[in-house]
Amino acid sequence: MQIFIFSKKNLFFSFFIICIISIILFSSLSFAANFYNTNISPSNFTEDISNITKQKEKIAYLTFDDGPSLVTPKILDILGNENVKASFFVIGKYVEAHPEIVKRAYEEGHYIANHTYSHNNSILYKSSESFVNEVKRTDLLIGEAIGVEGYCSLIFRFPNGFMSPKYKRQKKEAVNLLSQMNYAYIDWNCLNNDSVKKYSPSQLLDNLKQSSKNKDTLVILMHDTKDVSNSSLALEDSIEYLKSQGYSFRNFYSLVDDLK
Ligand SMILES: [Zn+2]
Repeated sequence: MQIFIFSKKNLFFSFFIICIISIILFSSLSFAANFYNTNISPSNFTEDISNITKQKEKIAYLTFDDGPSLVTPKILDILGNENVKASFFVIGKYVEAHPEIVKRAYEEGHYIANHTYSHNNSILYKSSESFVNEVKRTDLLIGEAIGVEGYCSLIFRFPNGFMSPKYKRQKKEAVNLLSQMNYAYIDWNCLNNDSVKKYSPSQLLDNLKQSSKNKDTLVILMHDTKDVSNSSLALEDSIEYLKSQGYSFRNFYSLVDDLK
């Protein structure tokens, strides 16, 4: 059995094989470690995101749009007290204004997702370049705020939502651009209508009760902006209500973590 004889030649060959295996292992480990700061996202992720509300489990994904603002820290305090992790769809120009708030949200375990740089549809849909720039610039600013170079948020939400009839044709084109950049987009299936800006905290809670009725997995739209700050006043009661209805809370890390 010549093969088991440790000649110099065999030793060199074994060393060579070990080196190759180490290089392969090391590369795959660094791929995993760098997942958040690359543009790589396995294709089933987009599918998981679009099917999220079809799950039959009682899970609530709280999402806050249009921040960060001075209301965001109040929301973070409540989420912390309630031990709930949420997802924030941030606007790039406000990330620029309040990077420390985004950093705090990220460090407290909340998911930071992309909601364009300007939230201005006429700039966003001016051209393909403009759309791509709005997305990438926002992730760049998030990365700078949280100290993660090359941060890729992977999840995008259209201003006014994909489902709204505004800019329908442009949004369909934008979906292709998002998929080329390996982003998934998501709307919501439950809301308290805080953006209408006329409801008291107790009315917001009633709206949420109505909107969540007979639904299993909820993706809930709220806003963490100054002019819609009543959502922060209704938040504690809203979380307590959802808990009493048997919902557990998750953020989008639960989907991203499945990929690792
Ligand atoms: Zn928005």
